[in-house]
Amino acid sequence: MTNGTVDGLPPLAVADRLDALRALFDDAGVDALLVTGTTNVRYLTGFTGSAGNLWVDDRQAVLITDGRYSEQAPTQIADAGTAVDVEVFASSDQSPVTALADGSTRIGLEARSVTWSEQQRLAKLLDDDPVATDGLVEALREVKDDGEVARITTAAAIADRALAEVQPTMVAGTTEADLALALDHAMRTGGASDRAFETIVAAGPNSALPHARPGSRPLADGDLVVCDFGAVFDGYRSDMTRSFRVGGSGSGREADLLSAVLDAQEAGLALVADGVPLAEVDAACRTSLDAAGLGEAFIHGTGHGVGLDIHEAPAVSATATGTLRAGQVVTVEPGAYLGGFGGVRWEDTVLVTTDGHRALTRSPKDP
Ligand code: ZN
Ligand code: ZN
Repeated sequence: MTNGTVDGLPPLAVADRLDALRALFDDAGVDALLVTGTTNVRYLTGFTGSAGNLWVDDRQAVLITDGRYSEQAPTQIADAGTAVDVEVFASSDQSPVTALADGSTRIGLEARSVTWSEQQRLAKLLDDDPVATDGLVEALREVKDDGEVARITTAAAIADRALAEVQPTMVAGTTEADLALALDHAMRTGGASDRAFETIVAAGPNSALPHARPGSRPLADGDLVVCDFGAVFDGYRSDMTRSFRVGGSGSGREADLLSAVLDAQEAGLALVADGVPLAEVDAACRTSLDAAGLGEAFIHGTGHGVGLDIHEAPAVSATATGTLRAGQVVTVEPGAYLGGFGGVRWEDTVLVTTDGHRALTRSPKDP
């Protein structure tokens, strides 16, 4: 299995991406871009190594990587279908940039990934001051091709199966850490190359902390439990949260919280479609929780893009200015957290379509 091809799945459209990036150069005010973000390098070339900078100008694309990758890089680039367009240059530093930059004056750097020391060094290597760019490749990555959607869908299905496998052990006496490990193990044996991020299993008072780390506390009857986890498949990630009350939801305050947050998630999901302002999806979740008296308890944004990174553009938040576009993969994950009592979050990873959305994470939601 390589980055470019997975049996039975559509290929990634890697070969089209360099020209799509070049089309953004004019607006960004650059003639060339030195791509330093490793995920962005992977997206543009198929190369998955941890060290490599990609030079892109109108005439050429050159991957500058060190000797460790002299075999892996050309193979992965060929597998991704970009072999004709991307040359590989082995070098332990960025000095080849001086020769590559000959003829280009406005050299863009990725402001989010270039370090201060790299920027200083590059400024010395170049005749002209580099130009800061922000989110050029990230903008291309927002809309997924069929191969990317297929990989995220597979990652989501792996996480769904892992939850179904582990669910019978989600009972009083099992610890948060045991459950997190069981989910991780089930995802790996189910085909994931890794977990998408550090798995969260938070029970009782811990469930009121959106980013709690699993600990040694055993689950007790009546605890609210938040499980937030995802799988990686061929580089692409999934993200899902399910919440429940140990021993059954019953009819108390826990049950009210579980269903109020699920109502908010459904209100947000109902709006997800091509052309809908991101902030409206966030507002729908917030309005729903406000009506339930839980507005103050919703202390984070509604969602985020998912792909090669677990958190990528677009942010689904109150301050987001853009609109959803078909082909984006985003989460909708409202939560309500009551300090000292507990919290609830429901999260799905969904594909935005022209007339709505398709849920990629599909585990049942029983408040
Ligand atoms: Zn999550
Ligand atoms: Zn998330």
